[in-house]
Amino acid sequence: MKKWRSLAVMAAALCALAAPVQAAVPGVPASGEGATQGIVAVSHPAAAKVGLEILERGGNAVDAAAGIQLALNVVEPMMSGIGGGGFMMIYLKDQNKFTVIDSREMAPKHAAPDMFLDEDGKPIPFDERHTNGKAVGVPGTLLGVDTALNKYGTMKLPDIIDPSIELAEKGVPVNWITSEYINSAVWKLEKHDTAGNVFVPGGKPLKEGDLLVQPDLAKALKLIKQKGTDAFYKGEIGEALVKEVQRTGGSMTMEDLQHYVVKEREPVRGDFRGYEIVSMPPPSSGGLTVIQILKLMEGFDNQKAGANSVEYLHNLIEANHLAYADRAKYMADDDFYPVPKKGLIHDDYINERRKLILPDRANAEVAAGDPWAYEEKTAAAPLPLSEASEHIYTTHFSVMDKWGNLISYTTTIEDVFGSGIMVPGYGLMLNNELTDFDAVPGGANQVEPGKRPRSSMTPTIVMKDDKPFMAVGSPGGSTIIASVSQTILNVIEHDMPIQEAILSPRIFSSNYPNVTWEAGIDQDVILALMAKGHVFAEKPGNIGNVQAVVYDFETGKMYGGVDNTREGTVLSVDGGSYHTSKPTPAPQADKGVFTLKVNGNTYPYTAEQKVLRNGTAYIQADKLLLGLNGGAEAFRNDAVQINGEPFLPVKKVAEKLGYSVSWDAQEWTIQLEIK
Ligand code: GLU
Repeated sequence: MKKWRSLAVMAAALCALAAPVQAAVPGVPASGEGATQGIVAVSHPAAAKVGLEILERGGNAVDAAAGIQLALNVVEPMMSGIGGGGFMMIYLKDQNKFTVIDSREMAPKHAAPDMFLDEDGKPIPFDERHTNGKAVGVPGTLLGVDTALNKYGTMKLPDIIDPSIELAEKGVPVNWITSEYINSAVWKLEKHDTAGNVFVPGGKPLKEGDLLVQPDLAKALKLIKQKGTDAFYKGEIGEALVKEVQRTGGSMTMEDLQHYVVKEREPVRGDFRGYEIVSMPPPSSGGLTVIQILKLMEGFDNQKAGANSVEYLHNLIEANHLAYADRAKYMADDDFYPVPKKGLIHDDYINERRKLILPDRANAEVAAGDPWAYEEKTAAAPLPLSEASEHIYTTHFSVMDKWGNLISYTTTIEDVFGSGIMVPGYGLMLNNELTDFDAVPGGANQVEPGKRPRSSMTPTIVMKDDKPFMAVGSPGGSTIIASVSQTILNVIEHDMPIQEAILSPRIFSSNYPNVTWEAGIDQDVILALMAKGHVFAEKPGNIGNVQAVVYDFETGKMYGGVDNTREGTVLSVDGGSYHTSKPTPAPQADKGVFTLKVNGNTYPYTAEQKVLRNGTAYIQADKLLLGLNGGAEAFRNDAVQINGEPFLPVKKVAEKLGYSVSWDAQEWTIQLEIK
């Protein structure tokens, strides 16, 4: 699936570009109404509507967020729900206070560091490991939502739960993205019959337009309405949950459910270009890693380099490698192991680390640094091991109310449809969050009873002149960090209005040399970056799904921005609405007569740029020289005119530049190796 802008959004972005009026608050569109009475930016229209109606009834942002989360459980059941966990960042205007309600899942009492290893001591393959009851963490979302309401809301659970009961009872039409996700997870849903009966009835996956009706889930939500969270943590829902987890291989007990604790946390904060980034602390690696990336990028003139230019992306990829290396080594649940939260984002440390970004070449030798040298160490931490997860599940939404309170909430059941295990009779999907622990014991992120697995979720709020103006976040496992940092860079460094900042194509690279990318990054840029040693994936993909709210505190207007890889929806109490449409799939590129690989990596030349003539392979001159980092002057005499364009013979040019050249006749591929 490719990220392809809808025409309407392109037009809006172009209008914004055509009107260079610069708002003082970044991210604010040059034109557009803006709301004053409250706004929501959510990945599903039905859940957005629930949030809007709560704001219209006089609820605050916390009330709306609670309603949206419960509705998402019903309408986007593969991404989040009360069988999972999440991080709700809250900004309370009247107290000028930030807080985070951490409802991340906890490992049960009988979880063990080696529980994801087979008899030979090898990690059990992910597909098997994450669909076993052992992967299910003690869920926190319901208690998190309830805690947020009780402490910071104006309504209680029974006041905000009815629309979700109705959506579960009467049904919601399956949209294009839900149908795609059901299709991708049929094997998992059918592995445990209960979920299969709901989403793949009679063996046929629900498709776009079908009605998703969930009477069991409606029953569970009604029980919660009547009896509160006890119905879940101490009552019949919990008993059925625990029974099913044990039946599928897990150890969770009622005692684990009763001992679940919501934690309220102080966000981490860091300065970037005079703005303050307020973000998610451990057990998430998200906030510290985003702040590291931004601070590393602060050393470059990104505006001059330009958004998605060669120079900018080179520095960005390198900054990501440095930050992700530290993430892998130092970040886990710091209620168990100390994380150098100050050292990691200390200016002197960042300045040292930035020196490892070489202007001309990808640095193949990036390793974690020593942030403890910039902070007093509280206790020794063993070396954590890292395990990449590149999923795009989970969900993020942002809300602002008329009083100026802001919510940035990322919430998950981990993989798509979590573990695939549904609580029989109560219709809720259970997470597989414990697979976010390292499968191999010995590190700070190993499984331990009562511990929260390391997360990447990064709900963030950005401040200008001590006033919050942007709430932003994304799903996407470890790619969340890339999506959030690039959206912030697009807004602050590249002056993009929020909607354009979200739809601008992103890249992801957590270590040397592989880079994944979204459609829209220029081919010349990719070729030049490959010449520097970065390896771009052959085809683009999707990275994250950002939902954000921007507040122009100078005019009192609020704006939303949503992604088009789901049915992103902005609704405002003032009546404004915006909705992304299903992206048109990018046309399949014709590979042409041959393929060029350098060190085993396919270069992205189009069919028109490649010609075979009399047994000699030619590539369009400027493109070949860009990809192989050759100067035009040296090859002036080798060029031949084909279809009115200069082309160069690949073998001759490559050999002159010092590559060894071979021809794979079976694959019709020219292979270049650096000698
Ligand atoms: N479990 C992941 C985390 O907490 C989120 C999953 C995803 O976004 O795909 O970081």
